[in-house]
Amino acid sequence: MNGYAGKLLRVNLSNGKVSKEEIPDSMKRDYLGGRGFAIKLLWDEVRSVDPLSEKNKLIFSIGPLSGQLLPSAGKMVIASKSPLTGGYGDGNIGTMASVHLKKAGYDVVVVEGKSEKPCYLLIEDEHIKIEEALDLWGKDTFETQDLLEKKHGRNSGILITGPAGENQIRFSTVMSQKGRAGGRPGMGAVMGSKKLKALVIKGTGNVSNFDDAKLKELTKRGYDEIKKKESYEFWMKQGTMQAFEWCNENACLPTYNFREGVFEFSKEMDGYVLEKLHANRKGCPMCNMQCGHVIKDSSGQPAELDYENVGMLGPNIGLKSLPQVARLNRMADEWGLDTISLGSCIGFLMEASEKGLIPEKLKWGDFEAAQKLVVDIGKGEGLGKLVSRGVKGAAETLGKGSHRWAMHVKGLEVSAYNCHACPGMALSFGTSPIGGAHKDAWIIAWEIANDRFSYNKSKVEKLIEFQRLRGGFFESATVCRLPWVEVSFGLDWYPQFLEAVTGEKRGWEDFLKIGDRIYNLMRAFWKREVPQFGRQWDYPPERWFEEPHSQGKMKGMKVDRKKYEQMLDWYYELRGWDQNGIPQKETLENLGLKEVAKEIG
Ligand code: SF4
Repeated sequence: MNGYAGKLLRVNLSNGKVSKEEIPDSMKRDYLGGRGFAIKLLWDEVRSVDPLSEKNKLIFSIGPLSGQLLPSAGKMVIASKSPLTGGYGDGNIGTMASVHLKKAGYDVVVVEGKSEKPCYLLIEDEHIKIEEALDLWGKDTFETQDLLEKKHGRNSGILITGPAGENQIRFSTVMSQKGRAGGRPGMGAVMGSKKLKALVIKGTGNVSNFDDAKLKELTKRGYDEIKKKESYEFWMKQGTMQAFEWCNENACLPTYNFREGVFEFSKEMDGYVLEKLHANRKGCPMCNMQCGHVIKDSSGQPAELDYENVGMLGPNIGLKSLPQVARLNRMADEWGLDTISLGSCIGFLMEASEKGLIPEKLKWGDFEAAQKLVVDIGKGEGLGKLVSRGVKGAAETLGKGSHRWAMHVKGLEVSAYNCHACPGMALSFGTSPIGGAHKDAWIIAWEIANDRFSYNKSKVEKLIEFQRLRGGFFESATVCRLPWVEVSFGLDWYPQFLEAVTGEKRGWEDFLKIGDRIYNLMRAFWKREVPQFGRQWDYPPERWFEEPHSQGKMKGMKVDRKKYEQMLDWYYELRGWDQNGIPQKETLENLGLKEVAKEIG
């Protein structure tokens, strides 16, 4: 089929075996690419394994739109059985590696086994080498990027695990280009467990598209339209940081470990402050909405900021200085730690100290202490050891009721939206297929604008619509969803892009069905890999049910448990799952997943 490179590259690090396989057209039609390919392969090939053992597999996959010259199409999905949650884990990353992978002739790389010594994988078109990486092991992701660029050229596509991944800290990510990160649920730790320090990808070929002239014309018009959008100018000034002021105004800013939704120092660090400090802009390839804002951190080094990392490493730990937040963020990127989980872990430890549950004295907003914690967490030493399995693991070790304010879903820390007064967003976190992530159904903006306090069925329908689009289509196509989300770039563009690329005329009904197939397979994977998996995995953190906000305009608000239960019932009914959240036989069969139904039935 046009638009795909057509091949899967399989590399076994235990025995050095390399093979190349054709990707069947049926897989392209049924799963599209990216996340779809990843879950299909994990379902077929990874069964009851320890995520950090050589039996786990690490998948790098792209879709028909990735690597094309289309708006915001420089994305790749990295997936594996997660060492943080034990279930399906993935994340997307904007990187030149996506572009090069397609040019090199592959849609997917599957890494198997485990190397005896540190190594990196070099992919140069059809030439594949496993290179020694003893000199890179222990180096941070920025230094590693420099060294690999020096050796293989500045424009190479490079994916790296940092020292945190080497130390198998379970929320370590994969990094690229000094600031791009992907794979929150521990994809960096899986790389580290395989002693795989990096992938270097250099492709020189061209994928064959169905109609290049049409694609060129669509591409030009698409970029032009994005630039003409009303919200484009403000987006370019603040990027995702435009959410900071909005979240504070609407009392959903994560503050003091998600206790509150407003931060008394918010004016000192919002998007307008960022505008004044702005030094540079960074982003993913093929994007004219680049959302990484670079400022000088408190040590004078350039560091990139976005809303999620400012929310989690700022108000969530009581820190009010943007350059200091930038410092923590740069350290996290160097170590290869996920900034959302890191902010949650630091907040958890500060609260544990405040409650007298640990002997160490940690004060909210203590920058020096936070810097030390980043290092300890990256090394897995001292207090870093306590949170090396994330806040869920830390609460299991610490006990004393700390699970009530361990801010995670399914073991993955929730991202930067406090949901005491946003029940739809709470359900979105609760039902996200990788745990507490916002990427699948960021319903909060719609909810606050339209129907904030209700717990009705139409809100659940809306949430599923978002999951189908965001978590199903965009993750599998694979392109960034932000042009659609942030500047209202029309959804009608995407079937046109796909038709020009693949030659197949397909509509949204078809793409949404693919999204459903992917969701059901991810759910089945959880059911098969996690004993006892079921309804109890689909709840937001206890704090949102139990402790109302004590200040701000949402004072007294918390999520109503009974009404949440009702929304969850509707969610399962609409998805065709039983009341324990397990896909029903008929649902799976209607999606062509008969064999899956047999296995989990
Ligand atoms: S909008 Fe941001 S995340 Fe999306 S492709 Fe552009 S730079 Fe990357």
